[in-house]
Amino acid sequence: MAKILQLDAHVADLIAAGEVVERPASVIKELIENSIDSGATMVTVEIKGGGMTYMRVTDNGCGIAPEDTETAFLRHATSKLRDEKGLEAIMTLGFRGEALAAIAAVSRVELLTRETGAETGTSLSVEGGAVKARELAGCPEGTTMIVRDLFYNTPARLKFMKTDRAEGAGVSAQVISSALSHPEVSVRYIKDGKEECHTPGDGRIDSCIYSLFGREFAGGLLKAATSDDAVTVSGFVSTPVSARGNRSYQFFFVNGRIVKSKTLQAALEQAYKNSLFTGRFPSCVLYITLSPSQVDVNVHPTKTEVKFLNEHQVFDGVYYAALSALESEGRKDAFRISE
Ligand code: ADP
Ligand code: MG
Repeated sequence: MAKILQLDAHVADLIAAGEVVERPASVIKELIENSIDSGATMVTVEIKGGGMTYMRVTDNGCGIAPEDTETAFLRHATSKLRDEKGLEAIMTLGFRGEALAAIAAVSRVELLTRETGAETGTSLSVEGGAVKARELAGCPEGTTMIVRDLFYNTPARLKFMKTDRAEGAGVSAQVISSALSHPEVSVRYIKDGKEECHTPGDGRIDSCIYSLFGREFAGGLLKAATSDDAVTVSGFVSTPVSARGNRSYQFFFVNGRIVKSKTLQAALEQAYKNSLFTGRFPSCVLYITLSPSQVDVNVHPTKTEVKFLNEHQVFDGVYYAALSALESEGRKDAFRISE
């Protein structure tokens, strides 16, 4: 008898889900990215119990057509990528078609959506990956996703969750990076009934930073910018006196996507080589823009790691942006958010 058998689809889904959905924060990341990709100008995020029991993301984006609602929850089902060639020119945050399938496999999801201009909307409930009900529903234009009881059917994963407080903190950090990644989208965040933050969505990086971190942090930042044919860098870096004991306020965005990158971190810190003691770290909110063909975002399921085709180019862009900001400090033309 054959010893090697292909896993059934449900088990395969559960395994794949584990890669995309690690904790409540990963669900929130994916849902906000979908909202941003939908062209939304307003996104509201609400969580209860650290996100484990309840998460809701509502947007005013393009909505989903009734006939697409069930397909959206299938693995590798996406409206953002059509063929192999498209992989080289990804302009959206999503493209793998995995998030909704993964989230729905390990929770109870309710979708409420109405396409722009459509007469009625659709409600769909999915539990542990199985569609339970689909109905016509009255609702505003846009999309609401409610995710309940995360990992209710995967006890092994549930065991690894931290306290609600710690998971909630993870969600908060995620909402902040997502909001920063797109200052043109207004993000409102409600945690256990209390509004935690609300970005204006006016497209200005400075007002977005101010609304998320307050006056003191914003006041310790200098405007940074460089641009050449290949790479544009813009945003803010901290003055040396506002340095911190850790790197938790270093935010790098590549083509609108939050990324973790040793290269970018090293480039930033190199610029502070002569102005900071060891153990002190600069903060930054930097947006790096380059041709999508110059960066591979398909390195990791959560897409927070990226590969640059030309590491030096990107390193130099960040390094010189930070360096010239530092050199401008104290000069009349230096731009500080508090001014
Ligand atoms: P991906 O984002 O990689 O395409 P997802 O599983 O996250 O895959 O979503 C599947 C599809 O569902 C998307 O391609 C999109 O067409 C649709 N969708 C998901 N969320 C939204 C939303 N908030 N607004 C409009 N469409 C959405
Ligand atoms: Mg997505």
